[in-house]
Amino acid sequence: MNTSPQPDYNYDVDQIVKAYEQAINEIVRELERLDLTKYQRANMLSTLKSISEILAELDEKAALMAQSSIEKAATDGIIHAILALEIVDNIAEVRKIVMFNRINKEFVKAAVADTQADLLAVTQNVDKKVRAAVRQVTAEVMRNSLPKGINASDPLRREILTGLRKTLGDSVNTGIIDAAGRRWKPSTYVDVLVSTKMMEAHKEATINEAVPRGALYGVISKHGATDTCSKWEGKIVKLDRSAPGDYPFIYELPKREIFHPNCRHVVSPVRRLDRLPANVQKANGMQ
Ligand SMILES: [Zn+2]
Repeated sequence: MNTSPQPDYNYDVDQIVKAYEQAINEIVRELERLDLTKYQRANMLSTLKSISEILAELDEKAALMAQSSIEKAATDGIIHAILALEIVDNIAEVRKIVMFNRINKEFVKAAVADTQADLLAVTQNVDKKVRAAVRQVTAEVMRNSLPKGINASDPLRREILTGLRKTLGDSVNTGIIDAAGRRWKPSTYVDVLVSTKMMEAHKEATINEAVPRGALYGVISKHGATDTCSKWEGKIVKLDRSAPGDYPFIYELPKREIFHPNCRHVVSPVRRLDRLPANVQKANGMQ
């Protein structure tokens, strides 16, 4: 079996994460500029406007980056399939012939849209949280400054100011709550999201390339995982539900064990199980 190198998307993921971190830092600076010692409507409105602009620019950038990342991972998945199936055995030659077949065209379109939507949800969430915090804080400033203005030297007032600053800071740093109720920093969330989507795109594109070429099985990659994935390393799976044999269908593997968020495993397609290397056959109870 020819194999392509284990995909490493750290660089691509980092670029997207950096774009989020940069935007978040800009928002933090905007929030720091808010005058909390006296209520100024114009000041608040201009802060909200700047934040919207920062996030709109981020969305645009992230959408493009999501597209190129998914396309890259899908291309890698196709190359991986072609090498594994020994259609062309040289990675440079494969790069020349690689293209998205009809299924992969549809898949990539959907995966890009899906990733963009998930990223958009992150900025929308940040936007909502920050706006709510700015409104809450300015209302408090207004209430506090009605009689005499917040005097920064007054210890009680200082405490209020610190509290207001904290409310603003927290709004931007604990933006995302996932389905399990865990809180995420937006950049950490984006990191896991994009790397997971890229690995998924790799796997899906491999399967979409392999099955029409008559490869109905796959072998799960091995890199010495120590998590729950380890028991699936080197295991044969079906890429097509109708394939004969007593092997699990790849889409029915327990998601908590393999192909979980941040999982690094890929699948190598196989046409004929009897031609698998002896050690792989043995590990799957074939000998
Ligand atoms: Zn894994």
